[in-house]
Amino acid sequence: MVTPGTVVPMNCHFTTTKAHIVLNGGTIEEIIADKGLEVTSSDPFKGDMDVAKLESLIATHGAGKIAFVRMEAGTNLIGGQPVSLQNMTDVRAVCDRHGLKLVYDASLLADNLYFLKVREEACKGLAIRDSTRRVADLCDVIYFSARKLGCARGGAICIRDGALYEQVRALVPLYEGFLTCGGMSVCEIEALTVGLEESMDEDMISQGPQFIAYMVGELDRRGIPVITPAGGLGCHVDAMRFLDHAPQAQYPAGALAAAFYIASGVRGMERGTLSEQRNPDGSEPLANMELLRLAMPRRVFTLSQVKYAIDRLDWLYQNRHLVGGLVFTEEPEILRFFYGRLAPVSDWQQKLVTRFRADFGDSL
Ligand SMILES: *Cc1c(COP(=O)(O)O)cnc(C)c1O
Repeated sequence: MVTPGTVVPMNCHFTTTKAHIVLNGGTIEEIIADKGLEVTSSDPFKGDMDVAKLESLIATHGAGKIAFVRMEAGTNLIGGQPVSLQNMTDVRAVCDRHGLKLVYDASLLADNLYFLKVREEACKGLAIRDSTRRVADLCDVIYFSARKLGCARGGAICIRDGALYEQVRALVPLYEGFLTCGGMSVCEIEALTVGLEESMDEDMISQGPQFIAYMVGELDRRGIPVITPAGGLGCHVDAMRFLDHAPQAQYPAGALAAAFYIASGVRGMERGTLSEQRNPDGSEPLANMELLRLAMPRRVFTLSQVKYAIDRLDWLYQNRHLVGGLVFTEEPEILRFFYGRLAPVSDWQQKLVTRFRADFGDSL
């Protein structure tokens, strides 16, 4: 449990998870392996945690100050990059040595299972169900958003230890509703069960990553900056290079999302500085990466829709010099990217529209 003054080491943070930890008086320490922050790479597992850094964090704070170790696979904010089974095994060994619990955010597990199958030697011969077992056996707690893992509404927290289960159970009426009549209906739990079962099917979980790999490959071939290798979750455009003229304090990834919507009607998601929280002193931490995420949930898009998005992004890239930055006009303190409002720093959006009309007319 996160209590004031405790630390949660993790490979990569997620926005709402970090907000919960901070709200409880804890802090996070991101100790992704250095390769994870290389925007272009051919490393198959850029989501891995740096195990040596985990050891030194524990030495610095003392195991008593570590609330738990959190792994997220794949990693949401750095391009849906997977975590290897080997890395999970190594992290587990460190947890065992220091009596720490390993908590696993499995929201993006389906993609990760696919990448284990195609990228990790030890998993190539395993059925998806068996690699799921191997991953699960390493964890004390597994939680996930069922919107992603299972394609249902709601989520789940799976707890191995009976005493911990009872401790967490007490929080359920506070945050969700009583166990037997809470927020998730039985029919939703049934849908989730079917979704989890489908996630054990390689043909099912491979569709998203294959479309993403196609999009990343096509953009890369055109010289448009994307995160490589292709990960899960979506195609991630590198806004730092796409808009290398826009200062990071003007949210290049947010600006790119706005520009791409104007040019295509496609709604991407900013994953960069805008998604970060201000420091307690009001200063703004700049994100490691500025990404435009074009999410590709399975069984939602057709290949021709993907081709349309590639074509429009190509046009935008040719006209990228027209795109400027953004500034907050309303900035909520917590999770500002959900409810905040922004404005362009100049009339760049009008200029982009004018250029679009000059090239395509009003017919589109
Ligand atoms: C999406 C996501 C969440 C949160 O999902 P909600 O459905 O918003 O609760 C948590 N962790 C990861 C890694 C995610 O990708």
